[in-house]
Amino acid sequence: MSAALRALGLRATAVDRRGGVDLLERDVQDRILAQIAAGQFRHVHLAPPCSSFSLPFWAMWRSSGATRSSRHPEGSAHPHPKEVEGNKHVAFTCRVIDACNASGVTYSIEQPLTSLMWLMPSLRGRLAAAGVFHARVDMCACGEEYKKPTVIAGTAPGLASLNLRCTGDHEHVLLQGSGPKGSRTAQAASYGVGFARVLAAAIVGVTGDQGRAGAAVRVRDDPGPRVVATVEGDLGEAAERPPPPQPSGAELEGARAVVRVVDAAPAVWQAAAFREVAEAGNALLVTAGDAGRASSAFRVALKEAHGDHMDPERIRGLGAYLGEDHLRYLLRVAEQGVGMAYRGERVRRKGLAYQSAKDHLDEAFSQLWEEVKKG
Ligand SMILES: [Zn+2]
Repeated sequence: MSAALRALGLRATAVDRRGGVDLLERDVQDRILAQIAAGQFRHVHLAPPCSSFSLPFWAMWRSSGATRSSRHPEGSAHPHPKEVEGNKHVAFTCRVIDACNASGVTYSIEQPLTSLMWLMPSLRGRLAAAGVFHARVDMCACGEEYKKPTVIAGTAPGLASLNLRCTGDHEHVLLQGSGPKGSRTAQAASYGVGFARVLAAAIVGVTGDQGRAGAAVRVRDDPGPRVVATVEGDLGEAAERPPPPQPSGAELEGARAVVRVVDAAPAVWQAAAFREVAEAGNALLVTAGDAGRASSAFRVALKEAHGDHMDPERIRGLGAYLGEDHLRYLLRVAEQGVGMAYRGERVRRKGLAYQSAKDHLDEAFSQLWEEVKKG
């Protein structure tokens, strides 16, 4: 989903369990709600875990221990632990919707058509409000082998005209048991590329009624995609970038030194090794005078040592699989790098510390180190 949004030229932040973030943690919730209130997002997409609301769970109540039903979607007085967790996700989802509504931010929420979550009174009340659209997408209409009818409700205007139904001229893979890639239901729970693209387009507003797309930012070649400035949190514009500078001899030497230090460093995180890398990097920054020149030189030195992992020819070969805009963006990154320029008003805001990261510093270090080692 994030990748599809980024392909449309937007900055997207994904927060999920796969990324190591537990949305039921109080700190995480407070941070997200504060970010919405501070106007840091133009749109929030919610995909709460549907497991305890899903048909395979509640319909098999004898074996699964489910207590939900259409009459009691929240479950009985003694719900299954999965249901307790599911209900907490719905409660947070409702708080996010309220925060979005209060700040004029559009939102969308997706669930399978048969999910009992749609019947949860708290959610149902909010989704019955004026200005909430309900869209339906069958996964087979997005190129998947299974049908899995899915509903997306929300306030993004693009959802008003989104309705992609099965064409009925093909067979479906049933979502039960295992396929070659493991559990079929689990497989279908992760995003198909086609669905992510459809959804991203609806959120951005490039399909349907384009005139009303005010929620997110449309992508144009000129004057360039608009970006969120890291510090400001507001939308500005990526400035036109000149081609990357030719590094001077001294810059190139400094960059080669960084590459050498990184290559010689051990594969796992070590404070001393990191200090050496940081020192070499700082020396390069001092020589280059700014981060843009330093990273250009680093890229040249990295290519000398390890070849080009962003070979434009190879990227062009992906043309059959990627959207035109996505391909264009990748090629630009391969040829010119990622733009660091930002044009727009600059306002300093106090940052929100990533609270849960403080308890996982080791993990953060190894993650960081992995990226350093990859160049
Ligand atoms: Zn179909």
